[in-house]
Amino acid sequence: MKKIQMVDLKGQYNAIKDVVNPSIQQVIETTSFINGPKVHEFQKNLETYLGVKHVIPCANGTDALQIAMMGLGLKPGDEVITANFTFAATVEVIALLNLTPVLVDVNEDDFNINIEALKKAITPKTKAIVPVHLFGQCANMEAVMQIAKEHNLFVIEDNAQAIGANYTYSNGNKVKAGTIGHVGATSFFPSKNLGCYGDGGAIFTNNDDLAHTIRGIVNHGMYERYHHDVVGVNSRLDSIQAAVLDAKLPKLDSYNKARQTAAKKYNEAFKDIETIITPSITGGCRENICNTCDCHVFHQYTLKIKGGKRDALVKHLNENGIPCGVYYPIPLHKQKAYADARYNEADFTVTNQLVKEVISLPMHTELDDEQIEHITSTVIKFVNG
Ligand SMILES: *Cc1c(COP(=O)(O)O)cnc(C)c1O
Repeated sequence: MKKIQMVDLKGQYNAIKDVVNPSIQQVIETTSFINGPKVHEFQKNLETYLGVKHVIPCANGTDALQIAMMGLGLKPGDEVITANFTFAATVEVIALLNLTPVLVDVNEDDFNINIEALKKAITPKTKAIVPVHLFGQCANMEAVMQIAKEHNLFVIEDNAQAIGANYTYSNGNKVKAGTIGHVGATSFFPSKNLGCYGDGGAIFTNNDDLAHTIRGIVNHGMYERYHHDVVGVNSRLDSIQAAVLDAKLPKLDSYNKARQTAAKKYNEAFKDIETIITPSITGGCRENICNTCDCHVFHQYTLKIKGGKRDALVKHLNENGIPCGVYYPIPLHKQKAYADARYNEADFTVTNQLVKEVISLPMHTELDDEQIEHITSTVIKFVNG
């Protein structure tokens, strides 16, 4: 059996070497390392793939979130609501811009922002909502957009984990994750569903004015060379990363399919195990038929382990050469940087429970049946033992 990896970047690279290497080589030969033609080509191709008017490439996903918030003109003291159960980057940029993060609880089934908790958290100071499409499926965007409309709020989608996923509205219309809110942000970190060979990110919007503002912000606030109209940042996707991404973009759908196939095999193996709760599929999908509607792209395959054995399972898998992860082990409201007297433990019962139960199994595009069989039988033997 091939050695099991949490994410098999090497295996994936070996399979696409013939496409990626010349693409990188071309950038080196032309020496257009910054803002070269490859960046523009990738941007155009991603706009077409997503069906969005504007993609603005930038240096990483954290910058993408920050720049989106700067572009919307959010001001210190504005409250921004986001999920408590996410990667810290989401809340980090809110705090960094001197906005006030307001963390709310998530759903027990899909781990995404809880709509009732979101409604409860709105105050006259609320200016924006950041739904995070955690582990590869959309938050309940129909409800989020409705609430945003009623309260005149901006919606910034954190789409770092769900690129390529579809969201299905109740009328059956499908759109790509990240293109629903006023602005979307994504990451091309190597292990993401569309990953480059370093850091990278992008911002999406259908709004022409916002796109223009953001294009200046990513480039030192310049709209005309050496005229700095607003305070900006330096956040660029370099041409070599764009070359990698442009070579990989045509494979994104098949990569996501490979993840879905692996997830299905995991689900099948675990379906009768009482203490293992397999991922719920909700991402706008009304029929639970994610294999045909692409509403979950399984950035992570995350189980809930009931009965208090999660930590012991992590230890057991690690001792047996099976990598796994706990995303995320500590709720944001308990992190030193983001703890605040405003928060009330009673408002975070789901998050507080999830951090004790979740475990993510190896998930990538190169998993084979033998590996999945070995992982699932090891997990099952342990939880039943
Ligand atoms: C990865 C990730 C980010 C940050 O992306 P970087 O490119 O690493 O800066 C933000 N939010 C979520 C939910 C992520 O998973």
